[in-house]
Amino acid sequence: MYDVAIIGAGPGGAAAAVGLAQLGVTNVVLLDREGFPRDKTCGSGLSPNALNVIEKLGIAAEVRANGFAVNTVRIVTPGKREMRISSDAAAIVCLRRVFDHLLVERAQKLGVTLVTPFRADSLLMEGERVVGVRGFDGREIRARLVFCADGANSIFSIDPRPKRSIATLMGWWDDVAVAPDQLDMIFDRSLSPLYGWMFPEGKGRVNIGICVDGQGPDGEKTTINLRQTFERFLGEHYGQALAKATPVGKWKGHPIVYTTWVGNVSRPGALYLGEAARITHNATGEGISQAMESGLFAAEAAARVLRQGESEAKAFGWYLNQHRKRFTSAFLAGHALRAVIDSPILDGVADTYNNPLVRKAVTRLLGSALAGSSVNAS
Ligand SMILES: Cc1cc2nc3c(=O)[nH]c(=O)nc-3n(C[C@H](O)[C@H](O)[C@H](O)COP(=O)(O)OP(=O)(O)OC[C@H]3O[C@@H](n4cnc5c(N)ncnc54)[C@H](O)[C@@H]3O)c2cc1C
Repeated sequence: MYDVAIIGAGPGGAAAAVGLAQLGVTNVVLLDREGFPRDKTCGSGLSPNALNVIEKLGIAAEVRANGFAVNTVRIVTPGKREMRISSDAAAIVCLRRVFDHLLVERAQKLGVTLVTPFRADSLLMEGERVVGVRGFDGREIRARLVFCADGANSIFSIDPRPKRSIATLMGWWDDVAVAPDQLDMIFDRSLSPLYGWMFPEGKGRVNIGICVDGQGPDGEKTTINLRQTFERFLGEHYGQALAKATPVGKWKGHPIVYTTWVGNVSRPGALYLGEAARITHNATGEGISQAMESGLFAAEAAARVLRQGESEAKAFGWYLNQHRKRFTSAFLAGHALRAVIDSPILDGVADTYNNPLVRKAVTRLLGSALAGSSVNAS
């Protein structure tokens, strides 16, 4: 019998495992249907906020050594104006194959047990209480608490609200002639209110992708043809840069599930975290830092129950409140940002961007809207 069983070893589940160990709870099992290292369809961009969180988790040095620093964010507005925002530490791109593995290894070093491949099929129940997890192969693992951290397509979600999601498609290219320390956010009208991106992965390798709303205003599935839209986007924005480039592998798509008001994140014996609890940013699709923070909240809630004897109801209530306090304003700012993208405001800002006051304000605002923290203008 474990103290905690965690289903899913992405940034959310693995950060929860590290957080538990840091709080003295090491009788923990981390389960994943895949062996590590493994890939995850993702831009692999770590925002300034994510960089703060990995300091707490004790993997900052390894991530910096294995990642690619980005010092400039190039923003292209719907009216095709350009802004370049520079900062000493705008972001780091660290491939998910590497990043997730570093986090899992950190948890193992702190005493957490990793079991892979373990594909969770159902939760073990005693009455209304979750008491463990059953694998597709019939293995049963019992624990005092279970964390569901199985990502966007969570099979355990208890949130009754229809899912809102961002639809994505992305690809990789080698030998691309672009600045190695710059990432692009392209607010192309065909993707509005979302955007396309290009993130450097080092030595001429980039990933490029697009994201659009997965649903229309009434919740109906988007009718946008992602492949055709991506082909047109690539031709329009990266035709020259990709002329002599070599495509790497197939294009991949994956939903990003978001919410504005964090809903059901617990039931007796279990907590939901990260993207399984819909904790991503609705305007940027950022979810790595949110998943890790969510995991750290789950670790603390569990430690309150297991080590301090606090009632589960009180600790789980605290858990929900932490999410609402931490994320609601950033998620509301995300909706404001979406409204701005759909208006001529961004073009106007770009037109006055050479004014130092405007430049400073844009940097601050974008920093907090995108990352929940501010970055310095240059
Ligand atoms: C195209 C794209 C680009 C993105 N770019 C960025 C970016 O640049 N920066 C950023 O911050 N965010 C980005 N995101 C969002 C980010 O990838 C996710 O929000 C983040 O990975 C969520 O972390 P998580 O730990 O909650 O879930 P995940 O990372 O999805 O991890 C879930 C884990 O659970 C495992 N699992 C699933 N089902 C089971 C099961 N039944 N049994 C056992 N294990 C299971 C999976 O194998 C996986 O390891 C992007 C997303 C997409 C789709």
